Amino acid sequence: MQKIQNYINGQFENPINNEWLDNFCPADGEVYGQLPNSSKVDIENAYIAARSAFPIWSQTTIEERSRILIKISELLEANLQRFAEAESKDNGKPITLAMTVDIPRAASNFRFFGNAITQFSSESHESIGKHAINYTLRQPIGVVGCISPWNLPLYLFTWKIAPALAAGNCVVAKPSEITPMTAYLLGDICNEAGLPKGVLNIVHGLGTTTGQAIIEHPDIKAISFTGGTTTGAHIAKVAAPMFKKLSLELGGKNPNIIFSDCDYEDMLETTVRSSFSNQGQICLCGSRIFVEATIFEKFKTDFVKKVKALKVGHPSESSTNIGALVSKQHLSKVIDYLDIAIKEGANLLFGGKKVSVKGFENGYYLEPTVFEISTDECRINQEEVFGPVVTIMSFNTEDEVLQMANKVKYGLSATIWTNDLKRTMRLSTQIQAGIVWVNTWMLRDLRTPFGGIKDSGVGREGGFEALRFFTEAKNVCIKY
Ligand code: NDP
Repeated sequence: MQKIQNYINGQFENPINNEWLDNFCPADGEVYGQLPNSSKVDIENAYIAARSAFPIWSQTTIEERSRILIKISELLEANLQRFAEAESKDNGKPITLAMTVDIPRAASNFRFFGNAITQFSSESHESIGKHAINYTLRQPIGVVGCISPWNLPLYLFTWKIAPALAAGNCVVAKPSEITPMTAYLLGDICNEAGLPKGVLNIVHGLGTTTGQAIIEHPDIKAISFTGGTTTGAHIAKVAAPMFKKLSLELGGKNPNIIFSDCDYEDMLETTVRSSFSNQGQICLCGSRIFVEATIFEKFKTDFVKKVKALKVGHPSESSTNIGALVSKQHLSKVIDYLDIAIKEGANLLFGGKKVSVKGFENGYYLEPTVFEISTDECRINQEEVFGPVVTIMSFNTEDEVLQMANKVKYGLSATIWTNDLKRTMRLSTQIQAGIVWVNTWMLRDLRTPFGGIKDSGVGREGGFEALRFFTEAKNVCIKY
């Protein structure tokens, strides 16, 4: 049985309290490893290591920081297969997804921010007539905390760590207790790449103990968090009296709006992907599908036909489209939503049942599920299910669909399918979301700002936004 350890000051250590949690494999429901349930003492040790490393790391040249981050990226690429297998086993996602999305993106995060820091500049202003010049220093914050969820484990973990390190901070990071494996493997890669001891510290454990110790730590001055809205609100409350800098990337309930003038086949293929990729466990999934009435019946038939053809199976098989959900608790939460939807009168078009995969009968498998709804106010259309479940509903006018798109508490992303440029401009301006995709989905360019509005969070990461978050701006005014 594999024992995961904390990575503190460049070394692997057991938790001080010797408390351990079981690590489950979602594909078969078996315990296959253990991880620390770290306490405040471990977080303090990680903090001390980070604080000690900070004076040197923050003064390390940009070229050297960049070189190390790019080396980490190269090592991740060289270990693609090993990391992808670990991610797939830990999370239940198809190996094909881990190979093509999760691990390549984790490598890109390091490469991107290793390069971006060399281009990061600050402003200067000459105060004409006052004989003064102002310039802005962008200084690293110090020790920062990074906390990430289970759905895209290494992808999101490194999305935070890479810019934090590039900007000259030292980090205390916690991956989700449910998917700790690739974060654990990252420690060795960092050592091999020559990241100085203590610059990155990875501590494992429950959110309510280990995560809580990070957010409560008075000298961890910034927190970058991705996770649920309730946890985000809790973090904001704890952090506020200590005036911590916060970036909160939270839940989503994203509309996918389909007009009859779109490129139909492209839309259909992409909508299957935006609905069920990663078992629907991506904050950006378009789980609320609105279709213009003139093509609604055709869409319904074609979409359900494609969904039926998706293969639910063991994540390690290359033919699997939909793997296992991440945990037993999460599967049961999603199933509860299916019951709620039926009780509220939603019409089940396909799915809704657990799947028994031969040889892996205790795995957490669920059919991709499609509900037709007649009111957008039902809970299945308002609350984040975060599983392979979508609703479809027809609309008649642009105004009507815009109202429905915005009538949720979330505002993360939206997708619009149309070839009408004016409509695109109107809707993308008025839709309440941090990200709008037109005629595509999840096409990511790491230079762009990423984040949500309303209950989907505060702050932006991505590109220079992330480097701005992980630095303090200091204005210097010199009179001459
Ligand atoms: P959670 O909010 O439950 O957990 C996220 C992370 O926070 C985990 O590492 C968790 O630890 C930790 N945590 C939990 N409680 C605390 C606490 N009191 N103090 C500090 N840390 C804590 O989210 P999930 O892991 O369930 O992830 C799913 C959610 O993430 C969905 O709502 C999804 O929409 C959102 N998400 C948002 C994205 C975005 O970019 N906006 C991207 C991806 C997901 P542990 O798990 O170990 O208990």
